Amino acid sequence: MTIRGLAVMLLSMAMAADAGAAVTKAAFGKMPDGTAVDLYTLKSDALEVKVMTYGARIVAINTADKNGKVGDVVLGYDKFSDYLADKKTYFGAIVGRYGNRIAHGQFKLDGKTYDVPKNDNGINSLHGGTVGFDQHVWTGKEVQGGVEMTLVSKDGDQGYPGTLTAHVRYTVHGSTLRIDYSESTDKDTVVNLTNHTYFNLGGVGSGTILDEEIMINADRFTPTDKGLIPTGELAPVAGTPMDFRHATAIGKRIHDDYQPLKLAGGYDHNWVLNGADGQLKLAAKVHDLKSGRVMTVQTTEPGVQFYTGNFLDGTFKSPSGWPYAKNTALCLETQHFPDSPNHPSFPSTELKPAQTRHSTTTFTFATQK
Ligand code: BGC
Repeated sequence: MTIRGLAVMLLSMAMAADAGAAVTKAAFGKMPDGTAVDLYTLKSDALEVKVMTYGARIVAINTADKNGKVGDVVLGYDKFSDYLADKKTYFGAIVGRYGNRIAHGQFKLDGKTYDVPKNDNGINSLHGGTVGFDQHVWTGKEVQGGVEMTLVSKDGDQGYPGTLTAHVRYTVHGSTLRIDYSESTDKDTVVNLTNHTYFNLGGVGSGTILDEEIMINADRFTPTDKGLIPTGELAPVAGTPMDFRHATAIGKRIHDDYQPLKLAGGYDHNWVLNGADGQLKLAAKVHDLKSGRVMTVQTTEPGVQFYTGNFLDGTFKSPSGWPYAKNTALCLETQHFPDSPNHPSFPSTELKPAQTRHSTTTFTFATQK
């Protein structure tokens, strides 16, 4: 057995032995049509995670810094109405049916062309369309140590074929938040779900993430055109500001005169993870030196979108009035590659009725002095 295999086995054994976090449920708000939105709190000794049924969104992750002071490390709101008013950021949401972009809002499947909303500047489709999975109220069910969210997206929803049933299970095990996804369909379709949480390991209100260090376990990334659609190339990161194989401060090269960074206004790209084989493997590690918080991300997905909150412009604010401005958070969206339905050489996002698609991502928190 490889060292990685042994590590995965030990992690699975530790999780199986762990009785799981305490789970409580409370009302969080109401949709304009009166549908109730619930908030689940998953609490272990090390972590408190709040997840609501609207968009199956992570609302808060409270964890200690190196001095034991507990703080929230994700961007969000304390009032439900603020989530309804923000149709731009996707704070904490499960995005789908297709996370990230589909070029010109069009793809072919089984010889037929499908049109999905061009909600990204009228050119491409972003995060599943005008009313994506982030804006639906999911059905929550308490499970051991967590909550399972379910959404049934009807045949033709936002132009996608097939009735898709998605289950997203959040569980907390010690200092690890685990997200298990599974999807099934009644017709051939495409699917690419991810979680769109914005992290600031210094804590909400602490400043930008530019001094945080990140390591991304990838030798290659997918360059894009100016609309952030992959060109199809898997380009080496070596010798470029995209090389995060060794931990590097995010702000160190973000303003370099390098075309992919200029096109995206910072980092907003998909990295091709090393060793992608459907097994849980290291995707990225972030370290905030000031608070000492460290977050390790593992995934079974082949890619990760590292996004440095380039489009945050201070319009939306934290509960204490701190503007969510450019670079005040980062996203690590584990995923299949953007626009895969139009790139037969990319790992496939097609799902057939006989299949169930499974994927897992974990976020583990620690501190380092
Ligand atoms: C995308 C960004 C987009 C953001 C929306 C990210 O996943 O890659 O380009 O602006 O989501 O919040």
